[in-house]
Amino acid sequence: MVSDDLLRLLADLVAFDTTSRRSNLELIDYVQHYLRRYGVDSELIFDETRSKANLYATIGTTDSPGVMLSGHTDVVPVDGQDWHTDPFSLVSRDGCFYARGSADMKGFIACVLAQVPQMTRRSLRTSAHIALSYDEEVGCIGVRRLIELMATLPVRPMMGVIGEPTGMQVVRAHKGKQAFRVTVRGRSSHSAYPTEGVNAVDTASELVAYIRQLQQNIRVHGPFDDAYTVPNTTLHVGTIHGGTALNIVPEKCVLEFEIRHLPEQDVDRLVADIRGHIATVLEPPMQAVYPDTGIEIEVLTSYPGLSIQTDAAVVGLVQSLLDDTEGTQKISFGSEAGLFAGELGIPAVVCGPGSIQQAHRADEYVSEEQLDRCMRFISKLTDLLVDGIAFS
Ligand SMILES: [Zn+2]
Repeated sequence: MVSDDLLRLLADLVAFDTTSRRSNLELIDYVQHYLRRYGVDSELIFDETRSKANLYATIGTTDSPGVMLSGHTDVVPVDGQDWHTDPFSLVSRDGCFYARGSADMKGFIACVLAQVPQMTRRSLRTSAHIALSYDEEVGCIGVRRLIELMATLPVRPMMGVIGEPTGMQVVRAHKGKQAFRVTVRGRSSHSAYPTEGVNAVDTASELVAYIRQLQQNIRVHGPFDDAYTVPNTTLHVGTIHGGTALNIVPEKCVLEFEIRHLPEQDVDRLVADIRGHIATVLEPPMQAVYPDTGIEIEVLTSYPGLSIQTDAAVVGLVQSLLDDTEGTQKISFGSEAGLFAGELGIPAVVCGPGSIQQAHRADEYVSEEQLDRCMRFISKLTDLLVDGIAFS
């Protein structure tokens, strides 16, 4: 079913340990050499330490907009996971291919690369752009540099497909996310004399209660979108650390919270409410006891939601190239599609082989059937690019 070339590419890609904390340059170098073999030049956009890079390449003319196929090269860690095979070595068993990144999302990248010989052999009236990023799994960070470069290009892609694992279904909307770290700086004292101190854990717990109250309001009043499994914006505190010993009034408490929001939600308003509550309700009583106390908020990650209309050209085009589709979907996990759409105005959908259920877990796999479907999709897309897509 799937070609030896595709499996060789996938085996090579998963063998590079591109866990987000590591460099992805060996993988990028491999892709660059591979493309060069077929006469395709690519541009690398490095991070500030030059230990990671995005890659951007165009097959066909750079004078007119093409279709972008995009994926991230980094993978989540395998630390502490109970793998039954070497996660960085592709293992085939019962029609499935096991390795870290097989589904999320080196399977898609391998399919795109496997089609490059076809794309270069035939002449494309509409070009194909290949965009590979780093540091997606840690908050869609790397792609921002690629987007900065693309913003300066005279011609940008007319549309994009982000190959995150969706079981080859078309996803046209996803939630956005903002994550924060809050540091409450109180003042320590002997717990027998608590009025001399400012209890950082107490203040942090008031903030937790406020965040829960915001969540409760949203759960009752919306906005809602029933196309999502969880139909509303969610707020949650994920970690909290404070205090050193029971008989000391805690000086410091650090908590992290996130907001996963519907594209329609005014998330800036929510964040402003939280900041306002901190400044007007939580800080004054602390500072009344001891002026040099306070609360700092740091943004950890932030990416926008995605909301592409059902009748957008990219939705119809991608659906027409799929064998069977159940209509478009909305998903709760994020992707780079929201950034491409929001920052560059490139309408993008998410569609790729494998399931998000297998992603990020031990024994991650992509099935042969999914790879086969993806190859048929990209091959039909190539036919379309050869004929040319009218751009309006
Ligand atoms: Zn992913």
